Amino acid sequence: MSDSIETRVSGKFDYDVVVVGSGPGGYTAAFRAADLGLRVALIERYPALGGVCLNVGCIPSKALLHAGRVIDEAAAMEEHGISFGKPSIDLDKLRDFKDQLVGRLTVGLAGMAKKREVEFIQGVAAFTGPHGISVDGSEGSSASKGAISFAQAIIAVGSQSLELSGLPWGDPRLMDSTSALELEEIPQQLLVIGGGIIGLEMACVYQALGSKITVVELMSQLMPGADADLVKPLHRRIAKRYQAIHLETKVTRVDVADDCLVAHFAGKYSGVENFDRVLVAVGRTPNGGKIKAKTAGVKVTSKGYIPVDHQMRTNVSHIFAIGDVVGQPMLAHKATHEGKVAAEVCAGLKSAFDARVIPSVAYTDPEVAWVGVTEGEAKENGLDYGVGKFPWAASGRALGMDRSEGFTKLIFDRSTGRIIGAGITGLNAGELISECALAIEMGCEAEDISLTIHPHPTLSESISMAAEVFDGTITDLYIPRKKQKVGSEKVGSE
Ligand code: NAD
Repeated sequence: MSDSIETRVSGKFDYDVVVVGSGPGGYTAAFRAADLGLRVALIERYPALGGVCLNVGCIPSKALLHAGRVIDEAAAMEEHGISFGKPSIDLDKLRDFKDQLVGRLTVGLAGMAKKREVEFIQGVAAFTGPHGISVDGSEGSSASKGAISFAQAIIAVGSQSLELSGLPWGDPRLMDSTSALELEEIPQQLLVIGGGIIGLEMACVYQALGSKITVVELMSQLMPGADADLVKPLHRRIAKRYQAIHLETKVTRVDVADDCLVAHFAGKYSGVENFDRVLVAVGRTPNGGKIKAKTAGVKVTSKGYIPVDHQMRTNVSHIFAIGDVVGQPMLAHKATHEGKVAAEVCAGLKSAFDARVIPSVAYTDPEVAWVGVTEGEAKENGLDYGVGKFPWAASGRALGMDRSEGFTKLIFDRSTGRIIGAGITGLNAGELISECALAIEMGCEAEDISLTIHPHPTLSESISMAAEVFDGTITDLYIPRKKQKVGSEKVGSE
């Protein structure tokens, strides 16, 4: 660490670094900065550390998705001779399981902050100038009450759910992702507005718990950012289980009635239907406009984003921003990496955010995961690419779990022979995609993947087999011999 940071040496500020926001990006930045010897304060408006992801997002949703998967897997075994009967659901206990998990992690974070001597200040932060922040409602030390000064700051204030206008937001039956996770009841009829990651994950949970689900999506496919073939196995499975999936449709109005919410649909599907609850998951909007960043001279776009360079510096060089507030993709794992970069740059290290790829995962059932260039992007950009695709119908492991609907697809740049993208649909796709991310970061060619011995029988084998499909060395499938055209796809059959 460099000792040349003028402010740290002069000690004229309360803190070397103040981090605003304690989500995965914020607490990582604070902890890394403290580990590098800086005096750090971490300001958070809520009593617990962890932000949306830990308290009301990624983590609690995974507990409920796990419960849903157990219910579904148990039911699926009926066909194969094992019957557990109809599940009896104690919603209070299930909620406790989720809350205790969150509690354990937030307590753990608080403990780690203490050990690192990161001062946690609870309150709402607003910049008062280029080196000052005021904190409302803080209960920290005297230095942290009211106004605090900092040598450097890291803005990690995240994002919040987009509220569709014209909907009855005061009605508790209209939910965003946070209230949906509270699991107040299991509605008989649930409408999910937005067929993106949050909408589909929550639909998965509520369907397993017994709700009848209707999904309405504006675009022509679910999860519009992902390749259409990747989403197809999920769409096929949920189409059988859900009441309806309306694509190219929107909800123009929701009226309040005593015993239901009345939704008006327009587009490819039109009509008026009653629901017990409605979940709105149409994206998130950054919180950059909420902290008076402009008072410190920090540029904030009209949409609330804060532009940064590759070292996560804003236009004010001693103020950094990370996570959802700097732009898409709004993913926790992107934020944590950016948090480390910002902290290290604060400490004088020559770090920069230079990840080639950031994986995306929908923890639906089946999971959908992708990383790097999608096939859609490869086509759009006229890349000279080739695809190796391994259908899980030829995977003994997937068949053994009676879940062979998925596939693994690797995308290669023909000019370099290197892997540039991957997509996986199926059980645990979110775990499997990391190998593909590593392969892209390492600049692997198909042979590097196919000649790496993968254990048998695993789902992970499907990655080396997809590389073998591209290589033309696959023996677990039969591929008729013919010359492959540029951009064409090799898919085997069992
Ligand atoms: P999203 O952007 O993933 O999906 C929103 C969907 O709503 C889109 O498909 C969009 O076309 C649709 N939509 C928009 N307006 C609509 C309308 N009026 N009617 C019907 N459909 C409409 O957003 P999200 O699912 O709300 O998630 C928000 C953010 O949080 C995303 O950036 C996501 O990556 C992130 N997130 C990630 C995870 C994960 O990694 N597993 C989980 C949850 C959230």
